[in-house]
Amino acid sequence: MKAVDPVCGMSVDIEKAKYKTVYKGRVYYFCSRWCLEEFEKNPEFYLTSGPRGMPSHSG
Ligand SMILES: [Zn+2]
Repeated sequence: MKAVDPVCGMSVDIEKAKYKTVYKGRVYYFCSRWCLEEFEKNPEFYLTSGPRGMPSHSG
């Protein structure tokens, strides 16, 4: 089973996903802690605008 990381748009393997969160009763999976933290900062932005692609960032 795969899910789409709502921050960067990558496919995430649900069974192996280390980074996930529940928002409004739905589970979201992330490729990295960075994406998880970005989502938690502003979930509505990513849910309404869609994935942004992986930006250049450090860490
Ligand atoms: Zn990601």
